[in-house]
Amino acid sequence: MSRTVYVNGKFLPEEDAKISVFDRGFLFADGVYEVTAVLNGKLVDKQGHLSRLRRSLSEIDMPSPADDTEIEAIQRELIQRNSVTEGLVYLQITRGAAERSFFFPDPETTRPSLVLFTQSVPLIANPKAEHGIKVLTVEDIRWTRRDIKTVQLLPSSMCKTAARAQGKDDAWMVQDGYITEGTSNNVFLVTKNHIMTRRLSSTILPGITRASVLAYAEEAGYEIQEVSFSVKEAQSADEAFITSATAFVLPVVEIDGQPVGDGRPGPVTRRLRELYIAESLRRSE
Ligand code: PMP
Repeated sequence: MSRTVYVNGKFLPEEDAKISVFDRGFLFADGVYEVTAVLNGKLVDKQGHLSRLRRSLSEIDMPSPADDTEIEAIQRELIQRNSVTEGLVYLQITRGAAERSFFFPDPETTRPSLVLFTQSVPLIANPKAEHGIKVLTVEDIRWTRRDIKTVQLLPSSMCKTAARAQGKDDAWMVQDGYITEGTSNNVFLVTKNHIMTRRLSSTILPGITRASVLAYAEEAGYEIQEVSFSVKEAQSADEAFITSATAFVLPVVEIDGQPVGDGRPGPVTRRLRELYIAESLRRSE
């Protein structure tokens, strides 16, 4: 049976789900998105993702085609129609179809496009959680408003593909000698039980999982430092890990060919992954 996709007010079989070639998402990457994890058929960190979506829209001056209640109703309908127990709901809003021009179209006449779909994927039983991932550092070639979650993902896609060509799982991006973030995740180090991560600014995406993990870690008594770190500092940390909506907390065991710690997932990372999963199962709605 074909998957159901939501496009501009309609639930459609995926082969009938279509967007205009004049949509500014297609022509200008003029759009924003969110990925929300699903566990036991329920949404994880739901409110955080909706709030960040509102902020992204407002930063690029894009009207919203639906309010939070409507979006949530669509998310739930898709989860149900596609029988998703574990996986994700993807949501994208683009400025809509208009005659091609660099100027934003008149919002009175051009309606933004709203697309949502689901993917069923095992998230808890991720084999990478057991062995950890290997990363390659690359120059951060993205634009300077990385705090906005736009669909402009070509630089990250190029970096991730370059990492895979060298047998690695992901790329960590570096600006002015300091690590910014992974291609689709936030980066953390652990040294002597202290958890370190770059502070929020326009140089990184304010990860929703980052915020939840920091809150749970603080409740569990860990000390947190929001600081920038170099590749060398990362390589000499006791542990390293990444966070994202679908990766949760994943250990990083190698950076540019150098093992982190003993080259195996560390105890703090393991504990934070367990904590994040337990809290997400408990709080998902
Ligand atoms: N940074 C970047 C560049 C990302 O693309 C993502 C995931 N979309 C993240 C961080 C992690 O954000 P979240 O925890 O909200 O998934």
